[in-house]
Amino acid sequence: MSEKSIFSHIIDREIPAEIFFENERLIVIRDIKPDAPTHLLAIPKHPYSSIHEAVEAGEKDLVWELFTKLTEIAGDLHLKESGYRIIINTGHDAHQTVPHLHVHLLGGELLHMADPVPEA
Ligand code: 5GP
Repeated sequence: MSEKSIFSHIIDREIPAEIFFENERLIVIRDIKPDAPTHLLAIPKHPYSSIHEAVEAGEKDLVWELFTKLTEIAGDLHLKESGYRIIINTGHDAHQTVPHLHVHLLGGELLHMADPVPEA
């Protein structure tokens, strides 16, 4: 059994976080180090280590719910009009730092483009 992730500690109320939404399957929290005025994380309560693992487990409804919940929140926060970004970092090369699946919602300002690929 691998070590409990920081997000599992938050889900179990062992570490504080600003909780935006919660149901039996997922939680939405504010990112502790926001990269934009709105920076939320949708996290499944089951500790899948990555989107890859959740898809391999056949978690179609859960993955859909993570995306639809963030989209709904983006609408509630009037980000549909200005635009927003939903992303999932997976693994080392994408700088995934917490090995517990989480989907980022970023918005509220003109977002930077993704980092350019370094020249060879
Ligand atoms: P990743 O790089 O893995 O896609 O993103 C992990 C995110 O989790 C980062 O944006 C980071 O700021 C956020 N994060 C890490 N630890 C905590 C924490 O203890 N509380 C909250 N609310 N966010 C965290």
